Amino acid sequence: MNILRTARQSFRRPIYQVIAGVCLSLLFLSVRHSLTPSHKPTTSRAMHIQSIPMWEGSGNNYAYLVVDDKTKDAVIIDPANPPEVLPVLKEKTSSGAINLKSIINTHHHHDHAGGNVEFLKTYPLPIIGGRDCSKVTKVPSHGETFTIGDSIKVKALHTPCHTQDSICYLFEDGDEKVVFTGDTLFIGGCGRFFEGTPEEMHKALNETLAALPDDTKVYPGHEYTKGNVKFGVKIMQSEPIKKLEAFADANKQTQGKFTIGDEKLHNVFMRLDDPVVQKATGKSNPIDVMGALREMKNKS
Ligand SMILES: [Zn+2]
Repeated sequence: MNILRTARQSFRRPIYQVIAGVCLSLLFLSVRHSLTPSHKPTTSRAMHIQSIPMWEGSGNNYAYLVVDDKTKDAVIIDPANPPEVLPVLKEKTSSGAINLKSIINTHHHHDHAGGNVEFLKTYPLPIIGGRDCSKVTKVPSHGETFTIGDSIKVKALHTPCHTQDSICYLFEDGDEKVVFTGDTLFIGGCGRFFEGTPEEMHKALNETLAALPDDTKVYPGHEYTKGNVKFGVKIMQSEPIKKLEAFADANKQTQGKFTIGDEKLHNVFMRLDDPVVQKATGKSNPIDVMGALREMKNKS
């Protein structure tokens, strides 16, 4: 018996070793495979963003349709004016071009979340947004993430000040990064402090949003760039702000054309340490500079 057991063990051991060896080899190969540059995922083009202008010439708002091209799963951001947004979506949903999954709101103001009730009549979907948004069903916490389709990862960033329920949404798909900023950050400017303080806007812009990678593209809630840069050039006349001015003069739409890195250069509200901005406001503490800039912009 003993001899037999020993013989069996000595026979079995190599089989286990072979199996273990094969497993290790496969693991090694799969790791090497994933590290081989030619097999690295290429920059994804799967996230498709369609801007839907609303109240052009007055509010100049944007709703944004974001689609994961692979699964066709989609979300609509701030569809505040259903007569302008629904026809675009109906065509796409009825043809099967998109699977609309949810409505996302950046904050509760009527020109962002005011279309929810009407929208739900056609699309009874979950509403993700700030706590005061009409009919909201899901209020993501700061830093909370969720996905759209297979590849779009969304992170909610609380940025209270314009309203206390303001949320910016970072969308990532492979190497592509965009942020929907509602009325917190505009190209070359920021929203009014209706429910918050200069300290809160300083934190929202210069801590929360400034911490995003510099190549994150900015999609704000309004096309306000011309007015913002008109104010900005009064404060500083740097090359980046002159470039923004030229771009705004030549282009009706500026959303998605500038990044967080660009904003750090041409947005006076993100340059509170700049001696030129400090001199223009007569303040040096960043919170005081922020407050003074907003007052000046409100009066401009
Ligand atoms: Zn607003």
